[in-house]
Amino acid sequence: SQTTNIMGISFPNLTMEQTVTILGDVVDQRSTELFHVITGNPEIVMSCQKNQTLRAIVDQAGLVTADGAGIVMVSRFRGGQLTERVTGCDLLFRLLEEGNRKQWSFYLLGAEEKVSQRAVEVIEENYPGVIVSGRHHGFFSTDEEEHIVEEIRNAQPDFLIVALGAPNAEHWIDKHRHLLNARVAIGVGGSLDIVAG
Ligand code: UDP
Repeated sequence: SQTTNIMGISFPNLTMEQTVTILGDVVDQRSTELFHVITGNPEIVMSCQKNQTLRAIVDQAGLVTADGAGIVMVSRFRGGQLTERVTGCDLLFRLLEEGNRKQWSFYLLGAEEKVSQRAVEVIEENYPGVIVSGRHHGFFSTDEEEHIVEEIRNAQPDFLIVALGAPNAEHWIDKHRHLLNARVAIGVGGSLDIVAG
């Protein structure tokens, strides 16, 4: 089977390398349809049990990564093929590495203002080939949303990195998906805090 079903969520059996390759292909295709990557961590899996809106978002996602030791463990126990974790944070670092070679652009949304600023500095220093096409902290009001969406749309990033916490990031991406003009969008939890150090 190509997928592993855990608590009603269908995880494609993909390694980190395969995931990065697929996302690179998505960028190359320059599709106008946003490719939503869900990092399937325990918070998301649990929220899906009672939140039907989130479940629908996950079902329609471009892909769901196995972001949880428990998920990989269950798969192994069943003799399954989900052999490694693909966490949002690891994925972000791998995409930055690949983006450094391929000049991918990233828009960073979320985290505190200082963390957001610092994350950009760290990326520009360590991944000079990456284009940071914009950033915004994650503590904005609904009134400010339209302006942020417009900024992202104008930036046309290859990757929209959304660090607003789960499942807020997933809902936010889905709500604005037709206006964002990004190739790939990923909710990455607290990863910008880790990038910022
Ligand atoms: N965050 C944000 N806006 C909010 C709430 C949280 O930008 O209104 C950021 C927070 O600063 C952190 C990330 O979202 O960088 C959430 O991290 P957390 O570890 O709570 O998320 P999870 O890993 O649970 O998805």
